Amino acid sequence: MAKKSVRKSVKKALAKAKKGKAAKRKAPAKQVKADVQAVTGAVPPMAPAEIEEAFRRFKEASPEPKTELKHSNPFTLVVAVALSAQATDAGVNKATPALFALADTPAKMAALGEDRIRDLIKTIGLFRTKARNVAALAQKLVAEHGGEVPRDRAALEALPGVGRKTANVVLNVAFGEPTIAVDTHIFRVGNRTGMATGKDVFAVEQKLDAVVPAHYKSHAHHWLILHGRYICVARKPRCDVCIIADLCKWPGKTAA
Ligand code: SF4
Repeated sequence: MAKKSVRKSVKKALAKAKKGKAAKRKAPAKQVKADVQAVTGAVPPMAPAEIEEAFRRFKEASPEPKTELKHSNPFTLVVAVALSAQATDAGVNKATPALFALADTPAKMAALGEDRIRDLIKTIGLFRTKARNVAALAQKLVAEHGGEVPRDRAALEALPGVGRKTANVVLNVAFGEPTIAVDTHIFRVGNRTGMATGKDVFAVEQKLDAVVPAHYKSHAHHWLILHGRYICVARKPRCDVCIIADLCKWPGKTAA
């Protein structure tokens, strides 16, 4: 994406945000500019020793980070992650206990059917499409995988409503593979810090895969997502309490 169109899309996103909950907040022009600089490669890269140090601190602060999505097995994890697209984990967690109480296996979910699933998840955004996908993915797991969630990226991505990000989360959380699923939070943290810059989530994922030390890879996804969700937030990053502020290269940061 050209620098001009990146700037345009960031401004457009901010204009949209101004009409919603964030309307009362002042538009952070300096930060928008810094975010544009980050995704267009103008932020210097973090050195390998700095990346090592950043993860050492993440580990020290949170030795065993976990997903915040409620689930009880690989199947409920796949469903919860698929439901979390363009929705918050908290919103998904409000709806899934009732859903999983009735259907925590592909066979039970397929039997529950699309209409009942839709009723149970109607508080989640895009619930109609998601209900259709959850019913279809449960049927496919029963028909093609013996009712088990496959430990295979291609097979996971072939499930309705499951993309690369969901497959990465499932491979990491359910099967312990060192995959790093890049969502909006990790995309922002990777670009701002200079740890892994890129114009799209795939580019950031590839860079993270190359630069994150092997001994930190299994938990890297959770450390980065939690950092982006609670500290390096989009509009008002909490640089004053950020444990990697001295390592971060973002020109918009508010603490050294
Ligand atoms: S210093 Fe600020 S911009 Fe950099 S990672 Fe920390 S919170 Fe994010």
